[in-house]
Amino acid sequence: MGTVSDYFGSLVFDDRVMKSKLSAEVYGSLRKTIEEGAKLDIRVANAVAIAMKDWAVAHGATHFTHWFQPLTGITAEKHDSFITPSPDGGVIMEFSGKELIKGEPDASSFPSGGLRATFEARGYTAWDPTSYAFIKGKTLCIPTAFCSYSGHALDKKTPLLRSMEALNKQALRILRLFGNTSTKHVHSSVGPEQEYFLITKEMCDQRPDLRFTGRTLFGAKPPKGQEMDDHYFGVMKPRVAAFMEELNHELWKLGVLAKTEHNEVAPAQHELAPIYTTTNVATDHNQLTMEIMQKVAAKHGLVCLLHEKPFAGVNGSGKHNNWSISTDEGQNLLSPGETPYENAQFLLFLCAVIKAVDEYQDLLRISVATASNDHRLGANEAPPAVVSIFLGDELSAVLEAIETDSPYQGMEKTQMKLGVDVLPKFNRDTTDRNRTSPFAFTGNKFEFRMLGSSNSIACANIMLNTAVAESLRLYADRLQEADDFKATLHAMIRETIKEHKRIIFNGNGYDEKWIQEATQKRGLHNYPTTPDCIPHLLDPKNVKMLTLHKVYSVEELKSRYEITLENYCKTVMIEANTMVDMANTQIAPAVSSYCADLARAAAAKKAWDPALTCGYETDLVRKLSTLTDKIVLQADKLKSAVISLEEAPDIGAESILIRDNVLKLMQELRQVCDEAETLTAKSYWPYPSYADLLFGVQ
Ligand code: ADP
Ligand code: MG
Repeated sequence: MGTVSDYFGSLVFDDRVMKSKLSAEVYGSLRKTIEEGAKLDIRVANAVAIAMKDWAVAHGATHFTHWFQPLTGITAEKHDSFITPSPDGGVIMEFSGKELIKGEPDASSFPSGGLRATFEARGYTAWDPTSYAFIKGKTLCIPTAFCSYSGHALDKKTPLLRSMEALNKQALRILRLFGNTSTKHVHSSVGPEQEYFLITKEMCDQRPDLRFTGRTLFGAKPPKGQEMDDHYFGVMKPRVAAFMEELNHELWKLGVLAKTEHNEVAPAQHELAPIYTTTNVATDHNQLTMEIMQKVAAKHGLVCLLHEKPFAGVNGSGKHNNWSISTDEGQNLLSPGETPYENAQFLLFLCAVIKAVDEYQDLLRISVATASNDHRLGANEAPPAVVSIFLGDELSAVLEAIETDSPYQGMEKTQMKLGVDVLPKFNRDTTDRNRTSPFAFTGNKFEFRMLGSSNSIACANIMLNTAVAESLRLYADRLQEADDFKATLHAMIRETIKEHKRIIFNGNGYDEKWIQEATQKRGLHNYPTTPDCIPHLLDPKNVKMLTLHKVYSVEELKSRYEITLENYCKTVMIEANTMVDMANTQIAPAVSSYCADLARAAAAKKAWDPALTCGYETDLVRKLSTLTDKIVLQADKLKSAVISLEEAPDIGAESILIRDNVLKLMQELRQVCDEAETLTAKSYWPYPSYADLLFGVQ
């Protein structure tokens, strides 16, 4: 295996490989394309393709694929082999620039939300040279964007790249206004912390709910859950440690900067965090990480559950999207600077984020909306569905001093000095991290914590990048026209604080009182479910902003509205059908056969000695018989509710029926089944229990 530094990135066609395999001229052109988006000459593309193919074949690859991220939320690939027949009856391995740059997968079955009429069903994939090609198995994977022939984005990468460009453009304008002439490029960077559960494959196979939906739809509460907090950062069980070791090895070969790993709060729950990188690459890497996690788990006889809420009653899984903005010169624009001048620039970028998050709270909520994430947000779990920002005490006090034009008193040991060059000088925030905030400032980056564990991080970052680009655009417009730069800057910062301070909240986000204050006093949005928030994607202010920055077209937004709600409805419908099936064909029969055996036992006891009371058996048979009837009745009700969805006039109406009706009936069915589980002898119950699942990996 060698040391990590020997094999890190060994399966990636990265800069090191490019430099060694390409001529100086070709390498130079390619770098220009990567860094500045310069158009790629077909001659250069051909040279790159040949070098890539030779390198891939030398590493055992036989196929190539355009690797893309359709709106299903996972990645897609169609493999073509490199072989071309040669006149002598053999084959040669070939790969051209044309094949590298553009592909035409038969993609008519991917969701398009009505964007693609059947006559142009094909769509095409276009190489994204900003994310390195890599080898998976025997296939060279080329990261690509996926579009329709009329140019509409059919994937998550295209709008992400557009949003990064929007942010770059507006941030550069601001930097120039601050006198910066050297920065060439500004990009957002992300480090996504990924949570997941590991259970044994053997037990997973016995549960149709886990197999079909990724979560348990039934399951009585175990005697022990997460109340002891003994799992968090606890010692790794040997099987888990072996899994993580191999996972790291596989990820490192693919150039993924897997860095930290630990046990999470819930039993069987774990986390992996990489070192941050450019948003685009971080998104690709996170998709790869989720895929490799599942593959490696399978090799260890385990199943990796990426669902947001695999188990009721214990913590669900999220993904913390650590996000910041940096220049190509390595300056983090969300890091408080050393000088008052740097601080002024920092405060302006900070204000741009505050303004963006307040004005586009709904878009941030929408960007993480799925049926599975609804079990976390707005459902008694961290974080709440209400978006707010945690800034910490010191930074909040600085903003307050600016807003009220009052001298900042400072806290102990701070070096705050007011009156220096308009804006105060302050140190990095040192207050405790707030773990309950959906959007927390953590010293030099923001941590957006509403993402679900199975979400692609693309959507959240598209909204974040674009909303911040919009704030910066408005600031730059005003600064450009200003006669007095400093006074205008100061005024803009003050105005932003005044107008948007309602979004700042440093308290406990789980507190019910906060939700009341947020919605009633502060007028913040609270969209607990996906059907509540998705319609706002098409609100005029949102359409205007997203189309202005050319991140989405109106058609693309409409299609995403459709697809998100379709996914929501399909997800819940599969769950409902699975429940009906499990209740009717496994749970009710199991309880009934247990009852029959109990009744036979009671009859045998009575025959042996009529004086015996048999209270245990008879009471239990009565109770369980009543419950079985209820189970079947509830299953029927749920089935009818699912059937009646067909009558909904459109996807919006269907999603509301699911939210108000189907999910409620699912809960009711679950309740009677879980009660039956607590009364039925374990040997009769058809599934591994919560205790088995949560404590089964040793
Ligand atoms: P935690 O939040 O668990 O305390 P850290 O603060 O160390 O952990 O970092 C969490 C994640 O934030 C890591 O993935 C790290 O790489 C990432 N991160 C650190 N700096 C930045 C940055 N400037 N931009 C984006 N992500 C960052
Ligand atoms: Mg964190």
